[in-house]
Amino acid sequence: MNILVINSGSSSIKYKLFDMPKELLLSKGLIEHVAEPGSKIKDHYFGLKIILEKIKGVDAIGHRVVHGAEKFKKPVIINKEIIQGIRQCCIVAPLHNPANLAGILACRKLLPGIRQAAVFDTAFHQTLPDYAYIYGLPYEYYKRFGIRKYGFHGMSHEYVSSEASRILKKPLNKLKIITCHLGNGCSIAAILSGKSIDISMGFTPLEGLVMGTRCGDIDPAVVCYIMRKKPYSVFQIDDLLNKYSGLKGISGISNDMRILMARKDKGDERAKLAIDIFVYRIKKYIGAYTAIMNGCDALVFTAGIGENQAKVRKQISQGVFSHLKKAPKILVIPTNEELMIARKTFQLIRRE
Ligand code: ADP
Repeated sequence: MNILVINSGSSSIKYKLFDMPKELLLSKGLIEHVAEPGSKIKDHYFGLKIILEKIKGVDAIGHRVVHGAEKFKKPVIINKEIIQGIRQCCIVAPLHNPANLAGILACRKLLPGIRQAAVFDTAFHQTLPDYAYIYGLPYEYYKRFGIRKYGFHGMSHEYVSSEASRILKKPLNKLKIITCHLGNGCSIAAILSGKSIDISMGFTPLEGLVMGTRCGDIDPAVVCYIMRKKPYSVFQIDDLLNKYSGLKGISGISNDMRILMARKDKGDERAKLAIDIFVYRIKKYIGAYTAIMNGCDALVFTAGIGENQAKVRKQISQGVFSHLKKAPKILVIPTNEELMIARKTFQLIRRE
């Protein structure tokens, strides 16, 4: 069965075609500048039309959907009610879900007879206990507005933890794993017996680690203080925290770890500081997650920085488990979120 995996973002559409269950990658590609001013690709429909003209023999489609809130704990076959449900989740993911939905709607028009599944980035973290996902806000903010920790990068954390179990030749239900997804966006998860029990990202992907351009954890009162000092709108504050902070904001140089490492090696103090802060935050989370799982069998690194930056991995790992009797295995596992989506779509369709 040929499964087309679509990752429809606000200005790009990525795709991979797999022959399942062989897990054979048949083709892949990317369309950029979707719906950007002056672009030839005026919307997602047009972008997907170009992709689907190139690809023949699609039996089913798996769509990545960023936010499923508490509504979607598992992948689902898309129908009108599901579309309505994804639309309702747009309120908590205004940057991502509308673009995901545009991809779904375009595919339904272009390939009306083909079954399509939605696979959610938040679903893997729906196993968090309430004491991990409820914030210290009045409880009605959770009940009325759905404000709680959701967590993201679910497909990546699930994929690399299942790979870790395969590599270690130990079943997932016998393992305590900490997975570090360190790309432009960064998150770290505590996976106990195959289930996510905590995740650094929160209500949005802003919480937790210091990332390429996102600040991660800060005292929320900082936002009130800045708004009193400067006449910033909510949108400007949002941009400050999401686009101008993190490695880029601290270093004043770049969000790209390769550039920062090179500058650090030349003696740039701010590049060194940005990297030190990045590493320090990850170490703190590893310590916390080792404590809540009462140990750790494996520490997994993945994504751009996790897979390619050996010096950063070394700095993070140094001494972080020295209190444990048995040192955990440290693994580098390339992530494959698209394969995870293809697997889940295949399982869902086969079950039907
Ligand atoms: P995204 O979250 O956008 O998918 P990536 O997973 O590609 O991002 O991660 C981007 C980060 O990974 C950047 O900081 C970049 O410096 C680093 N990175 C990516 N590829 C390499 C590489 N081959 N060598 C070193 N660093 C890399």
